[in-house]
Amino acid sequence: MGSKFPPMEKYDVIVVGGGPAGMMAAGRAAEYGRRVLLLEKNKRLGKKLELTGGGRCNITNAKFDVRDFLARFGDGAKFLFSPFSRFDVRATFDFFEALGLPLFVSEDRDRAFPKTENAADVTRVLKDYMAEHDVALRFGVDVKHLLVEDGAIVGVETNRGAFRGESVVLATGGASYTETGSTGAAFDWLKEVGHSVAEATPDIVPLKVKEPWVKELSGTSLEPMRITFAGADGAKVVKQGKLLFTHFGISGPLILNSANEVKKLLKHGPVAATIDLFPGLETPEVGRRILEAFDANKNKIVRNVAKQLAPQGLAKALIANLDAETLEKKVNVVTREERGRIAQTMKGLALTVTGTMGYDWAVVCDGGIPMTEVDTRTMASRLHPNLFIVGDLLHLSRPSGGYSLQLCWTTGRVAGENA
Ligand SMILES: Cc1cc2nc3c(=O)[nH]c(=O)nc-3n(C[C@H](O)[C@H](O)[C@H](O)COP(=O)(O)OP(=O)(O)OC[C@H]3O[C@@H](n4cnc5c(N)ncnc54)[C@H](O)[C@@H]3O)c2cc1C
Repeated sequence: MGSKFPPMEKYDVIVVGGGPAGMMAAGRAAEYGRRVLLLEKNKRLGKKLELTGGGRCNITNAKFDVRDFLARFGDGAKFLFSPFSRFDVRATFDFFEALGLPLFVSEDRDRAFPKTENAADVTRVLKDYMAEHDVALRFGVDVKHLLVEDGAIVGVETNRGAFRGESVVLATGGASYTETGSTGAAFDWLKEVGHSVAEATPDIVPLKVKEPWVKELSGTSLEPMRITFAGADGAKVVKQGKLLFTHFGISGPLILNSANEVKKLLKHGPVAATIDLFPGLETPEVGRRILEAFDANKNKIVRNVAKQLAPQGLAKALIANLDAETLEKKVNVVTREERGRIAQTMKGLALTVTGTMGYDWAVVCDGGIPMTEVDTRTMASRLHPNLFIVGDLLHLSRPSGGYSLQLCWTTGRVAGENA
């Protein structure tokens, strides 16, 4: 019996999505001799990739021991030993070096970058890699559905007609930073073919704060400091590291990597946070420092000594958190109790976290296709052996620091070899 679909272009492998995972998968499948077509709805490749690492591309994390690396994936780690046994961090270094893009490791949390510190170079070498192996590229092609015939996946339907492929690799990303092209549309197609989709929530995302004084500190960063988040249900999360104040709230590595846990607290309502400006000092020691500063400024009012009490740039935060009466007092009449209260304020600046900044600001989303529905030896769907799922589409929680891109290199590579 003939196909009920009209004649259409045919390939061995169709890769949907020209981000890091898709480019890796396409190049690798073609290197294995397959006829590969990569479809990208944007006019160019790697739009999100070029934003990574602030434009420098934190390409991986130089934890060369697989166990050590995967320890950062929490419950997801157990699914990743198999693909990482085929393509790990060391292999990623070798791969990019061989493409003429040497990497270096920064002292900051083992983060690795191209020596050129230019994310566009990563896209460029991957484009060369695909060109070398004759991957066909089509831009402005928006995939709308998987093409299914008699229950089997035989290609994709797009705004430019249908394309047939023996294998289909989905590399369309999650639902974060939607302006780069990743809108989470593939989750709908995957549901249509029987997959379940863990609800996508923004992850590695800045937090919104109610207090207006935070805005005034926009651009100020603070390290080291400790922040305690307390949920309305009594649960607490305590983190220490570098915090950045922004015009909407708080960000920086410490906050981005706390977002996943804070999101859980936010389910019960706004979260009360306190910032300890001096995590290395006990409150009495902070009190002694205040006394020293007051002794040196006997005729000033507290407001005018705030700069000498708070860490650099944070006087405004301290002023916003002290009551007007204390602020206008001459320091030589401040009582011991009032000094104690100032010390306590510095050990616990109060903030109210009202939410996350949402998908548009999220580095990744943690929802997606459950790992139990993917055969991680090949990255094929357990429901459709010729359908491969890679990169941000997978439901895996991880911190910032190069882990997400390494996930793309590894899963893209393994899918490309098996597609
Ligand atoms: C600001 C920012 C900074 C980041 N920095 C880092 C970092 O330094 N290190 C790190 O490890 N990770 C970083 N990440 C995360 C990282 O960028 C992602 O994990 C990674 O890009 C995911 O790759 P992907 O190939 O799965 O999907 P994407 O990069 O999202 O690519 C998916 C592609 O599919 C295309 N597409 C989507 N739908 C369709 C469709 N229907 N038809 C055709 N094409 C479609 C999209 O246009 C897009 O080009 C950062 C993320 C952001 C937002």
